[in-house]
Parts: sequence; structure tokens; C-alpha cells
Amino acid sequence: MQHEVLLELKDVRRSYNSGASAVEVLHGINLTVRRGEMVAIIGPSGSGKSTLMNIIGCLDNPSSGSYQVMGQDTLHMTPDELAALRRDFFGFIFQRYHLLGHLCARENVQVPAVYAGVRKSKRDRRACELLARLGLEERVDYRPAQLSGGQQQRVSIARALMNGGQIILADEPTGALDTKSGQDVMRTLQELNAQGHTIIIVTHDPRIAACAHRVIAIEDGYIKSDTINDKVADPLALQDEHAAADKVLAEDKVLSEQPVINNQWAKTWSSHLDRFKEAFVMAYRAMLSNRMRTMLTMLGIIIGIMAVVSVVALARGASERIISNIASMGTNTITVYPGERMGDVRSGRVRSLTARDLVALQGQPFADSVSASVQTSALLRRGAEESNATVQGVSLDLFRVYGLLLKSGRIFSQGELDSKAQVCVIDDNTATLFFPTEDPLGKTIIVGNVGLRIIGVLAPSDSFVIRGEQPTIFMPYTAVMTRLLNQNYLSSIVLRIKDGFSTPVAESSIKHILLSRHGREDFFLQSSDTIMKSIEEATMTFTLMISAIAVISLVVGGIGVMNIMLVSVTERTREIGIRMAVGARQSDILSQFLIEAVMVCMLGGLMGVLFSYLVGQLIMHFWPSIVLSYSVDSIIAAVLTSSAIGIAFGFMPARSASRLNPIEALSRE
Ligand code: ADP
Repeated sequence: MQHEVLLELKDVRRSYNSGASAVEVLHGINLTVRRGEMVAIIGPSGSGKSTLMNIIGCLDNPSSGSYQVMGQDTLHMTPDELAALRRDFFGFIFQRYHLLGHLCARENVQVPAVYAGVRKSKRDRRACELLARLGLEERVDYRPAQLSGGQQQRVSIARALMNGGQIILADEPTGALDTKSGQDVMRTLQELNAQGHTIIIVTHDPRIAACAHRVIAIEDGYIKSDTINDKVADPLALQDEHAAADKVLAEDKVLSEQPVINNQWAKTWSSHLDRFKEAFVMAYRAMLSNRMRTMLTMLGIIIGIMAVVSVVALARGASERIISNIASMGTNTITVYPGERMGDVRSGRVRSLTARDLVALQGQPFADSVSASVQTSALLRRGAEESNATVQGVSLDLFRVYGLLLKSGRIFSQGELDSKAQVCVIDDNTATLFFPTEDPLGKTIIVGNVGLRIIGVLAPSDSFVIRGEQPTIFMPYTAVMTRLLNQNYLSSIVLRIKDGFSTPVAESSIKHILLSRHGREDFFLQSSDTIMKSIEEATMTFTLMISAIAVISLVVGGIGVMNIMLVSVTERTREIGIRMAVGARQSDILSQFLIEAVMVCMLGGLMGVLFSYLVGQLIMHFWPSIVLSYSVDSIIAAVLTSSAIGIAFGFMPARSASRLNPIEALSRE
């Protein structure tokens, strides 16, 4: 019975570079394997068996010659096309089983199907059936370390069959097993062959080779003989069970079912999603199995993100507080000060601002209300009680300019202003301090050595004109100038702009008017707008500075991640080799490691945000004057940035993992 040709090697040579010269290990191998054959390749150690096997299994390429798998030439195939061949046609059984230690038997068996894009439910069912068929139904959830050598080898046989395993390549499959387990494995291989699987076994043991129908002897890289074995040996007393076994096998759909791959589905989005999910789970498992290392890697990112989020929240909190203070100055106000600019040391000596300027500004169309302000501090007394107080000499409009409201009484009248009357309006602080039990209205209070009649009490306000706990009293500015300070100039003029007029227009008109009156610019203007602008500029500079520090700290964290990922790739080289051997594409390996890096960074980012929030709450609890304001934007930005770091710094290690040579990776311990 002549079956179709599955594998065809023509003049295959393989040489390795050793120093300057190339050493040829296979010297022009010609070999044809047909469907349904059971072939043993036998030869002493170092004869080139494994090299040949690797070429047959598309794990390695010949240096010259041609190799065809089911009529497809493998010479010019890309690594991913070779991976597809391994995935769809070959099943590998290794001497050292090569199972993944952190996956249980069932999950190990499924790995080739994951890369083939088989649905989870389907591959799970098939994995359990295969394991049950190989007598491991009780052990499906055991990890390799919990299984004996023979059981592990059976798991690896199940894995070889997962995608159909039309061609099973077994490299010294019994080499690490005791006699009994070795016999079991050989019997299983014979059974599979009886089911139609093509089997190629590499061995140095003539007793194992005797179980095959065809024995190819190889020596020093040459095929010495290729013989048909008429008397196929039974690995054990197979004769007794043969009849029964044949009966079972004849009905055995599980082993003969091939292939299970649905190529249509494998190309759909849900299949990609499924593979992504699998890569995600694998990355998660890898993280869990190296908890300490994962935590330490994350620490860099956690600290970086935590610092950045906290400092941004602190800056935001501070600027929000300043802005709300400015808002309490009242909307659309412009204040005229003597001097050249804010902080001008000579401004106290500039006496150019007078009541006449006030009148000139009052007449302007853009002025809603204009108030003079003369400020001083003085000792406030009533009976035995005394306290330092801020004395605000103002005109009537000031209450309107700053939106101050009365709790009781009235503000002074134009008549009182003109007559420099000794009257005052007191704030809430003064009222509580000096009149804890009585009504202050109509009572007298002494400022310096001037007695004042209280005509009004202000409602509590958070306006900046009333500072903290310090008592503040408001007097006609005329009275402050003549009776308290004996001066004829003002500290400032505050103007509230009418609705509908813009601040810049009002500012330039005021400048123009005062310039023409004074003849020189011995004054400066400040509006809530200009203050806001300068704060925004300061915040901007601050934010830029923080961002620079943030970038540096995150780059340092990222380098940590890259370092650990490189270590992880080196440590898991064998795992990568196994995955590649069972059909993982380069992109599968790349995405697995990249997902791992991104997960570490993203989790680190989230934890950084969380810690920053918790620390912020603690700080605000113990130091209420410090405000941290967390914005959703900054949190999202932090998490996105940390993920981006994962991608940026995880890419290089992930790519080097995906570009590993499968054979070199497999041979790494
Ligand atoms: P076998 O499986 O029969 O023991 P191998 O195929 O492993 O033999 O090796 C055949 C020869 O090729 C040996 O002499 C070995 O030293 C050499 N060889 C195998 N792999 C490499 C390699 N990666 N680089 C250099 N020489 C190698």
C-alpha cells in the first residue's frame, strides 16, 4: 500500500560555523516519508539525528538542499509560515517533555490550539478527552511537577495530538523514562500509528527502533541504511492485549480526529480576541509566578506616578485656592496703586493719588462704582478690651465694589463722608471680639485716640479685604486721612467696571486719564484679570517643571521595567522555545511579553494614583491648610502614560524574545 508522500528531503546539508570554518553535520540527506509510516531514525550520539529531526520539524532550516512538506517548499518560508506548518501538521514529543511548569496538564495540552485559534470551549473539551484517552483523566488539573515522568510524557503526547498531529516527531521519547513508562509511550505511539498518524522517532536505542516499521540508520551525517522492519517488536507483551486494543482503537475518534482547526474561524476577530485574551492570561500567570520581582519592577512606576499625581494635585489645589481668593476680590475690578509696579519699595512715598483722581474716574462711562481706599492699622479699644485692627478708609461705593453685605445697621452717607464724620462700620470679627453679648449699633469704639460711633455691622464674608481673624473697621476715607493719618493722598482707588465694558479698554482709559492728570506714570493698575494671568503663567511654568521631573522619573522607572523584562526573557527562553515549537508566531510571543510589560506598568500606574490619593487624604486630614485637588484628566493621563512606558520599554525585550531561534531557545536550560 503506497501512500502519498508527506515529507521529502533532497540533498539536505546542514553546517554549523565553528570559529572560522564551517563544520558540516549532515551531508546530503535524501529521504522520503509517506503518510502512515512509522519511522525510526537511529544512530550513535553526535551522528546528526537531532539536527535532522529539527529540519524535519521545521524548527531549523537546511544550509542547502530542499525540503518539502506536503508539496510545499520550506526553503523560502518566513518564520511565521514555518510556525504555521509546525502548528497545523506536526506534533512534537521531546525527551525532556518540555511542558510549561506554570500551566496544568489541561492547559499545556491546549497551547498549540491557542495559537491555531481554536475556540476555548472546544479546545478545553478536546484537551480533556485526549488526556482521558491517555489515562490521565484524574490528573488534568495537575502541574507537571506533580506528575511522574511517564505521565508528563503522556501529557506531551496529548499536546502533540491537540491540533491533529498528522506527523508526530518524537526525539528520544523514552530517554528520560523508566522501562515500564517507556514501553507505555512506545505502545501509545504504535496505537497512534495504527490510527493513521505518521510517526518519526529519533533514538540511539535499537530496542526502540525495533518498534518501528522502517528503520533509518544514520552515522556521521550520512544515511547508512534504510530498511523495512518485517518483525515489528511489541514494546511489551502487547500480543495479549492486541485484539482488545485494536477494537478500542478502531472506534477511537479522539485520536484519529484531525485536524481540529477551523481555518475560517481562526481568521476572525473573535479568534484574534481569544488569542489576545490567552496572551493576557499567560502574562498574568507569569506575573503571579514572579510576585516579588513584579512588585519590585512596579515600585519604580508606582513611585514615579505617585509623585507626579501628588505634585500636580498640590499645584492644582494651590492655584484653585488663589483663584478663588481672587474671585472674592469681586468681579471685574481694577485697582490703581501709587508707584511703578507691585512691590515697588518707593510706592509708600508716592503721594500722587488724590481724591480728585477719584472724582475724575467716577465720571467715566465704564465705571460702575469707584471707591477710594486709605489703609492703616491702629489699636482698637473699648473699655478694658483692646486689639490691633485694620482700618479701611473707604468711600460709599467700596461696599458695592467688593460685594460686602450688612448684617445690621447702615453704611455711612455721602454727608458723613463729606463731613469727615467719626462713624464706622465694623466687621463680624470686631463685633464678636468687642461686643460678645450686646448689640454694637450706636456704641462707641476708640481707634488710636479718635472715638467712633458704630453705625453698621457687616455679615461674615470671605472677601480678601477682611483678613482672617484680625478685626477690620471701615471708616469714611476722609475721616481716616484727616483724623488718623493727617495725609491728603489715597492708598489706592478701586473701580468696578460696568457690565458690557472690557477690562483692557477700561484699563487704557484709566491710564490715559491719570497720565494726563499727573503728567507721568507714577501709578500702576491691577485687575483681577492681570493677577489671574500672572498666576496662570506661574502655574504653567510650575507644571512644565513638574512635567520635566515626571519624564525623568518615569524614564528611570521605564528602564527598570526594560531591565526586568530582559531578565524575564532570558529566564524564560526555554518556555519561548516550547511555545515556538508548538506553533506560536513571532507576533504571539511579542504580544505576550508586551502585554506583560504594559500590565506591570499600568497596574503600577493605578497603584501610584491610589497611593497618591490615600497619602493626599492623610495630608489634608492632618494639615487642613494644604489642599490637593485630583482631576480625572491627570489620573487618566497618569495611567495612559504608564501604559505607554510599558509599550516603549517593553518593546525591545519583547521583540528580542520573539526573534529567538526556536532550537537555541529549546536547548537553553
Ligand atoms: P545527535 O542528535 O545524533 O546526538 P546532533 O544532531 O545533536 O547529534 O549533533 C550532530 C553534530 O552537530 C554534533 O557533533 C554536534 O556537536 C554538532 N552540533 C549540533 N548543534 C550544533 C550547533 N548549534 N552548533 C555547532 N555544532 C552543533
